[in-house]
Amino acid sequence: MISLKGVDKWYGPGFQVLRGCSLDVARGEVVVVCGPSGSGKSTLIKCVNGLEPVQGGSIAIEAAEVTDPKTDMTKLRARVGMVFQHFELFPHMSVLDNLCIGPQKVMGRPRAEAEAKAMALLERVGLAAHAAKFPIQLSGGQQQRVAIARALAMDPVAMLFDEPTSALDPEMINEVLDVMVELAREGMTMIVVTHEMGFARRVADRVVFMDGGEVIEDSPKDDFFGAPKSPRAVEFLSKIL
Ligand code: ATP
Ligand code: MG
Repeated sequence: MISLKGVDKWYGPGFQVLRGCSLDVARGEVVVVCGPSGSGKSTLIKCVNGLEPVQGGSIAIEAAEVTDPKTDMTKLRARVGMVFQHFELFPHMSVLDNLCIGPQKVMGRPRAEAEAKAMALLERVGLAAHAAKFPIQLSGGQQQRVAIARALAMDPVAMLFDEPTSALDPEMINEVLDVMVELAREGMTMIVVTHEMGFARRVADRVVFMDGGEVIEDSPKDDFFGAPKSPRAVEFLSKIL
């Protein structure tokens, strides 16, 4: 479903940020990506939906080549939901409008249909009562759940998360993780950059460990936690667990 083969990326001529990264994510699989700061995790998932160009290797989502210049990236990007660390909701729009704008503008859905779907999604993340509010009136955890609902409003085939809970106060982390766990259990294909190893243990199929722009380890979660293969992963785990 998502396939990266030997992806190389440079930021400018002097700095190679991704080195021959390969990763395959099957439909319905949940892959957690972890690794030290600066190892290239955010860059990797930005490359998956074409937010950053790559200079070598290939990336495909379903049958579409992200790395093929002929691919309609607006269409493709609309099918892959992305949730960032800092929510990035549209601040000047109500929660409801945040969820409706994509389906209306990109998918051409009528307002009534977009609204009905938006309300169902807000219900699902426990925020239906907040539909008329603006993002600034919500807590961080609530904003992040709106961001997830907004991504789901586009009927994504897969979801990419980049440290979705790392900017949240501790008491709000679980309300966001719970939504993600439910999504995973419903069979959503997900790549999740996170250091929440409790989440990884609960729902990940595989854990990918990155360091220095390379995929160092890609293992079923029980193997990763039980017996990480590389010394660097062992050291990393000893710091965060
Ligand atoms: P963190 O855990 O801190 O989020 P990360 O694993 O997500 O780190 P990236 O954000 O992908 O790492 O960054 C990888 C490297 O690329 C870092 O050295 C970073 O400074 C550099 N980098 C990231 N974005 C850019 C950019 N737009 N231009 C130049 N260098 C960049
Ligand atoms: Mg990052």
